[in-house]
Amino acid sequence: MTLHIPFDNSYARLPERFYVRQAPVPVAAPRLIALNEGLARELGLDPEWLASPEGVAVLSGNSVPEGAEPLAQAYAGHQFGGWVPRLGDGRAILLGEVIDRQGRRRDIQLKGAGRTPFSRMGDGRAAIGPVLREFVVSEAMAAMGIPTTRALAAVATGETIRRERALPGAVLTRVAASHIRVGTFQYFAAREDSEALAALTAHAMARHYPQADGPMGFLRAVIAAQARLVAAWMGLGFIHGVMNTDNMAISGETIDYGPCAFLDGYHPETVFSSIDHYGRYAYRQQPNVAAWNLAQLASCLLPLMGGEAAIPEATEAVRGFATLYDAEWRRIFAAKLGLPADEETAALAARLLDMMAATWADFTLTFRALSGDGALPEALTELPAFGEWRAAWEARSPDRDAMRRANPAIIPRNHRIEAMIAAAEKGDLGPLEEMRAALADPFAPPARFDPLRTPPTEEERVLQTFCGT
Ligand code: AMP
Ligand code: MG
Ligand code: MG
Repeated sequence: MTLHIPFDNSYARLPERFYVRQAPVPVAAPRLIALNEGLARELGLDPEWLASPEGVAVLSGNSVPEGAEPLAQAYAGHQFGGWVPRLGDGRAILLGEVIDRQGRRRDIQLKGAGRTPFSRMGDGRAAIGPVLREFVVSEAMAAMGIPTTRALAAVATGETIRRERALPGAVLTRVAASHIRVGTFQYFAAREDSEALAALTAHAMARHYPQADGPMGFLRAVIAAQARLVAAWMGLGFIHGVMNTDNMAISGETIDYGPCAFLDGYHPETVFSSIDHYGRYAYRQQPNVAAWNLAQLASCLLPLMGGEAAIPEATEAVRGFATLYDAEWRRIFAAKLGLPADEETAALAARLLDMMAATWADFTLTFRALSGDGALPEALTELPAFGEWRAAWEARSPDRDAMRRANPAIIPRNHRIEAMIAAAEKGDLGPLEEMRAALADPFAPPARFDPLRTPPTEEERVLQTFCGT
């Protein structure tokens, strides 16, 4: 444990055009509202120090710790398919990087830390709601074994920010393997800056895929990581909601928990985001969108792969996403059904999902009930085809112990997140603490009746989520 943060800032050593040096803008009255002690220890930081006034000053951006080299990263991106040549960190400041206890390099970033040269019309701030949503959901994802950015702390700023209504402000300390996005590559590719592209690729390879063979090997590694990630999302009923190219991390971690949501009742066409009018980022679309984003990455890398001559191989690599994704999907859904990953299991999974879609069966509770924990939805069991399906599945002797390790008993449900946020906005952090405790071990069977685990009633159901800027 150290009383300072042992920074080693490799991104700040990249050429100046990769970022703008920018200190966080201080806030009025910082107050710690959530601290991830386990993650702090993982990073070699003392949780008690982080919770002290000195630590909270750092977590709110009021004091720049020794060794930090605060900066806003430059990136571009396709937002809902529309090209934006300059996005960048409009409200996030990278303090720097630390090497964690396992030797992994991790970014420490403040989100909501004030305006930067990339802020455009934005205020550079974040509201308490989106900050707590990201805190709870990203930590739940980590507990479920999904690659993700992490949440180290949430600090209330004591300031009011203007959205559709006045809201309490907050700053999230986000920890990530890196914040390099597909959009970071697009930023330099669009400027035909091949020197920067080469430097970025070398940096990203060294950090995330040191075994990869050249830019083509790097592309293949990113594709494989995304195939694993998106299949993992599908296995949990997770809808990212805003899979713009600037929200796809090269590391393969889930990033940007804006309008994300978990399915309650299963239907593959489900969309929550209020701004996703055409269902571009619907549950079912996620693998297609990932492949589309990866095609953008491939075209950025072409100049480093020998130009036009590399198009056939790069195309083949991007097409390979579908194969990798299908294999991952089969492995994940086989584990969910407690069966070996073969053709027969894949067919069983597909038939089950069709019946679940027809009856809007609760995604989490259905798989958990099949694992031997709780009751199956009645509408599902009443389907004539279900009995037949169940017999075929049982005949293959599913391993229910393994199923309980593959199917969470609890997910952060949207209506609960919103209730938690509403309480926090009024100063009541009880529901936040309850959620964090319940989600710390999502696979553990519930000890007692727990309303955090039940699907929403008709009135409780959340129909839309918002980007939550
Ligand atoms: P996102 O929708 O979160 O992926 O953000 C898209 C872009 O908008 C990024 O460049 C963000 O930095 C920027 N942005 C989002 N919210 C704000 C804000 N409140 N102030 C300034 N920039 C923002
Ligand atoms: Mg983003
Ligand atoms: Mg966002």
